Amino acid sequence: MTENPQRALSRREFRAQERVHNFNSGPAALPLPVLKEIQEEFLDFHGSGMSITEISHRSSLFEETIDGAIARTRRLLGLGNEYHVLFFQGGASLQFCMVPMNLSLPGRPVDYISTGPWSTKAIREARIQGKEVRIIATSEDRNFSYIPTEYTVDGQASYVHFTSNNTIVGTQWQRFPDGHGVPLISDMSSDLMSRPFDVTPFGLIYAGAQKNIGPAGVAMVIIREDMLKRVPDNLPTVLRYTTASNTKSLFNTPPTFAIYVIGLVLRWLEETIGGLEEMEKVNKEKALLLYEVIDKSEIYQGIVEHGSRSAMNVTFRLPNEELGQRFLDEAIRNGFHALEGHRSVGGCRASLYNAVTLDSVRALVAFMREFEEKSIRG
Ligand SMILES: *Cc1c(COP(=O)(O)O)cnc(C)c1O
Repeated sequence: MTENPQRALSRREFRAQERVHNFNSGPAALPLPVLKEIQEEFLDFHGSGMSITEISHRSSLFEETIDGAIARTRRLLGLGNEYHVLFFQGGASLQFCMVPMNLSLPGRPVDYISTGPWSTKAIREARIQGKEVRIIATSEDRNFSYIPTEYTVDGQASYVHFTSNNTIVGTQWQRFPDGHGVPLISDMSSDLMSRPFDVTPFGLIYAGAQKNIGPAGVAMVIIREDMLKRVPDNLPTVLRYTTASNTKSLFNTPPTFAIYVIGLVLRWLEETIGGLEEMEKVNKEKALLLYEVIDKSEIYQGIVEHGSRSAMNVTFRLPNEELGQRFLDEAIRNGFHALEGHRSVGGCRASLYNAVTLDSVRALVAFMREFEEKSIRG
């Protein structure tokens, strides 16, 4: 019999199996308590006798759900009243096009800092619209392996756009660029809510939820009131930030389930973790553990420059493809899931988003040490 042993297990036994250590880059791990809560209340959401996916987006029950997610976002990031928290479908990729469409000022350039494939895609969308795009800094000369430190911002720019964490290559801004009064706009898809920061220089922040704050299907947009005045009248209704801000993201049916899960993830972040300072401590500890192994290793080599290393996506290579493949195969057999690097970079990548536990990282580090010892000894 060559039956798959997993499949041979009864449903009940399968449930009792351990979950894997999930290092997916996105969609990615969600906190286990959140998954359990979803499961528990799925058939009967708050006494309604219906699931969250079966109720009206205009019902008071959903209104409480979306209001709760917004209130938690405000508290966690310390947002003032001048900021609106909005939800859009279309992922971060739709924001690549909505940002220049809504926020470029007539006759003024839009400035971009290019630090990886996601920045490049954002730039392309601005160019498609015929905007005057200025790349004020780029790290493309060395395969995006660092965060540029030299750039000048002049007051002419409509905004300065940058990618706070570069998911694919594994770099992260340690200190955000200084816009010198020009509004900053950031794609924070892979590190929003992973650390505290000062939002006041930002005109707009956006993030596809599926990396760090929830499931796929929704992007969170945080926009400052003065940016809304820039929105031209001649845009299609659903593509205007003002439409969402005037209707509390309920112009049409929003991705209700995804917003509900974001609310639960943010509650976990506030009440179980204790906020962004605490979350950052854990995230730093996880990243440090992994980078320590890489730094002391004879077989694992980091891909990016030290000062630019990401706490969210740790990238590394092995000396040759064969050993790399053996590493990945053994990792899977030992319960470490999704360690292969992005196809454009190769090598390995461990994504350590908020929901990836310190225990998972400790286990990975132990596995990596053991694998190295074995492969050196022969
Ligand atoms: C994943 C990712 C995107 C793309 O997000 P979608 O929601 O799939 O459009 C954009 N930017 C960054 C930094 C990402 O990590």
